[in-house]
Amino acid sequence: MEETLKILVVDDDEVDRIAICSALSIAGVQIELSEVGRGNDALSLLSINTYDCVFLDYRLPDQDALTLIQQLRYSKIKVPLVVLTGQGDEQITLQLLKAGATDYLSKSRISPETLSQVLRSAIRIYRAEIQADLANQQLRESNEQLIYKNQELERQQQQIQMQNFKLLEASRLKSLFLATISHELRTPMNAIIGFSQILLRPKFGQLTRQQADMVERILNNGKHLLMLLNEVLDFSKLEGGGLDLKPERFDVSKVINIVVSEMRSLAEAKNLLLLVQTDLQNPLVFNDPLRVKQILINLLSNAIKFTESGEIWVEVKELPGNRVVIIVQDTGIGIASKDFKHIFEAFRQVDQTITRKYPGTGLGLAIIDSLVRMMGGKIFLESKLGVGSMFKIELPRKITLRTGAGNAPSSQLDNDDFFCPPQNPHQSSSQSRKANRIS
Ligand code: ADP
Repeated sequence: MEETLKILVVDDDEVDRIAICSALSIAGVQIELSEVGRGNDALSLLSINTYDCVFLDYRLPDQDALTLIQQLRYSKIKVPLVVLTGQGDEQITLQLLKAGATDYLSKSRISPETLSQVLRSAIRIYRAEIQADLANQQLRESNEQLIYKNQELERQQQQIQMQNFKLLEASRLKSLFLATISHELRTPMNAIIGFSQILLRPKFGQLTRQQADMVERILNNGKHLLMLLNEVLDFSKLEGGGLDLKPERFDVSKVINIVVSEMRSLAEAKNLLLLVQTDLQNPLVFNDPLRVKQILINLLSNAIKFTESGEIWVEVKELPGNRVVIIVQDTGIGIASKDFKHIFEAFRQVDQTITRKYPGTGLGLAIIDSLVRMMGGKIFLESKLGVGSMFKIELPRKITLRTGAGNAPSSQLDNDDFFCPPQNPHQSSSQSRKANRIS
């Protein structure tokens, strides 16, 4: 069933009102009709009732249609409005439409078809406008929400930047503190080591067995503490970019053999077999011998520390592309693959408890990681819990240094005995670390 439309006709001419009413009923439009002859009466009715459409005569006794439309707009009354114009009123149609009329129709054209057509299209246009208004309103609201969220995000971003800045500052202060404290502690530690060494010399007087034993303990503990302090100092220098590599030409096999013989007593104290194989046609490399030694000492002392029985192998081999690889393999406790990436971070140990079995600062691998990165090398780790671990350090035969903080100037590299492919100085060795397991 077709809906009944509530229509208001505003016209002081009764004949015209009847004409509209009959045209609509001939057209078959179901209507509930209200009629008024004056603009003010129309305004009163429209402020309390809702209508589907208003037919408004342009000329009313108390005002014209344009004034009435403006009043309706001012009172925020919305309704489809069709203005019925007489002879000579057509000129102002544009003004009427601009003011808010939905449509207009010349009285001379009133017929059942035109009137019903104009009525339906006015209602359609009005409803579409209402929907567009609603959508606009929703858009405005979501736009406001977006602006608010954006402001909120900007505020959070500023807070994050601020926190980031504070963290960087805290980290810088921590590095400075570590560097200062380890530097300051090294001086008295060297005195303790030096004087205990002097005390142990027979020419300064014979110590009793018990005294000699105590002084030896002071010496050994002093050396251990100095080693830890050096680790902290190196790490803080590496972090602050203050550590320079001092490359020179040297025999890498020799350095490896020296380190192995220095550490053999530690392995033997734990009944571990320490095997070394240096298999190089050309043992010469261009690198910092002290830092290569430091890498090997760190790897070997870890291998000895984390191995209770079995063997430790140290091997150095040539690789294609003018590279050498140093391998340290043990039959120790092994490392779970989930810990591979963490153990290269500073102060990270698989066992982080204070009651842990194995002592250490947790800086050894972090230092190795930074040094290998500076040398343009890569670290590979293969390990299996309860079986053992294998650390492989791949290094270019001739290192190429970046200029800038933490690196020796490249002018030191005038030696052309070796060819080394260009290294990517920003390549993270931890990115290229393989996470395989020993089979
Ligand atoms: P530290 O040895 O002082 O604890 P490192 O940075 O040298 O610090 O090593 C970090 C951690 O990696 C060690 O605490 C240990 O958990 C693990 N790790 C290193 N090397 C080995 C190894 N050869 N076998 C088993 N675990 C190892």
